[in-house]
Amino acid sequence: MKARVSTEWLSGCSGCHVAIVDLHEKLLNLVDDVEFVRVPVLMDEKGYPKADVGIVEGAVRSEHDRHALEKMRESCGKLLAFGTCAAYGGPSGIGWLYGRDAILAKAYGGNVSDAKGSRVPGGASKLEESVIPIDEVVKIDRYLPGCPPHPYFIAIAIRDLLGVESIPLSPMTVCSECGRRMKKTEGAKLSKGEVSANDPETCFLSQGVVCLGSVTLDRCKAQCPNKGVACAGCAGPSVDLIREPHLDIRSMVAKRMAMLTGIPEQEIRDYIQGEAKTFYSYALSSPVMYGKPTVELREWAAEAAK
Ligand code: SF4
Ligand code: SF4
Ligand code: SF4
Repeated sequence: MKARVSTEWLSGCSGCHVAIVDLHEKLLNLVDDVEFVRVPVLMDEKGYPKADVGIVEGAVRSEHDRHALEKMRESCGKLLAFGTCAAYGGPSGIGWLYGRDAILAKAYGGNVSDAKGSRVPGGASKLEESVIPIDEVVKIDRYLPGCPPHPYFIAIAIRDLLGVESIPLSPMTVCSECGRRMKKTEGAKLSKGEVSANDPETCFLSQGVVCLGSVTLDRCKAQCPNKGVACAGCAGPSVDLIREPHLDIRSMVAKRMAMLTGIPEQEIRDYIQGEAKTFYSYALSSPVMYGKPTVELREWAAEAAK
């Protein structure tokens, strides 16, 4: 009997659902094993049919998201937090820095937006006070961060949840799949706002460009640094970063770059702290990041906004 799979799309960009469709022939292989009973980008199913596996994209941002997530938990045997938004809040988690009222004021300019005097278009679901990773609302059985996750890892995760085969997912960072080499350099300056560098074979950090590969879980096979762009950390924090309360992006990257280049560690720390909205963006609203004793993201963002 085929396993039944249901998917739902909360506050996210839909990119994770497109990634499922992008599985191409791997999706066809899966179809032999599964029956998709609910997939918002592929079929018009508004209910929540019973399923063996539920795949949830996006974070909880609205009352609708919370309701849909609870329905998924009720109707699915196992639930997969699919993508960085589901696991850590993702890019929309940047709203955690400001709160609901400030965001509504910014988006709607404080003006009413319908004839009844509402500030939110009539019928729209009310916003939660902040962006909430989904495991703060319901129990999650597996996590697959990535923005979106690479097809190789999607196929592994789904086959594991279906009980078809279990392949351990690597706990390594993006550096483990990167073809660039870290080496000591002289004369490099801190490149602020840069995501590329001249030497295609040398680590970005050795060239003074902030790359988050060493603090990011590899769920992409180092796609960006291998194609000339520094890692932005979209797959979320590395295992070290999650486990150790005193480690954070700022301290780990600054120490490594300072060791390689001789650029003062404090200069790099100050830069990363000042651009915290960018460098912490994918996990800002998760306690994995804001709960660290060495991290004060809201204060850093407020300071940077002055
Ligand atoms: S994890 Fe990335 S691709 Fe997936 S919904 Fe969030 S922003 Fe989109
Ligand atoms: S820090 Fe970035 S460029 Fe350097 S090895 Fe790691 S992923 Fe590659
Ligand atoms: S290299 Fe970094 S930014 Fe690029 S896809 Fe991988 S985790 Fe995301």
